[in-house]
Amino acid sequence: MLPVSDPSVHNPIQIDPELCIRCNLCDWICPGDIIYKEENNKQTMPVVAYPDECWYCGLCESTCPTDAITVVFPERMLRNQTDVVTLLGKVV
Ligand code: SF4
Ligand code: SF4
Repeated sequence: MLPVSDPSVHNPIQIDPELCIRCNLCDWICPGDIIYKEENNKQTMPVVAYPDECWYCGLCESTCPTDAITVVFPERMLRNQTDVVTLLGKVV
């Protein structure tokens, strides 16, 4: 597991703790199982357990009932500089 606190790893999503109601939906919906939220505990925030494996699909952002999540694309994706091998290397 790569900790999101590692500055060399891009954090693919930001979660606003003021808006998050700890509902677990983001953990449930993420197709890559990247977000982890402790079940039955309204005190704990969801965490990004595998930041380097995010697909940037946006499902967590669109599903969150309180708009607490923002997807943050890496600079190289915004500039269209990510090569196909790098992208597909995560899923094949
Ligand atoms: S879906 Fe939104 S409100 Fe629910 S736990 Fe995730 S970030 Fe929090
Ligand atoms: S953007 Fe998609 S893959 Fe990335 S954390 Fe959200 S739901 Fe998971």
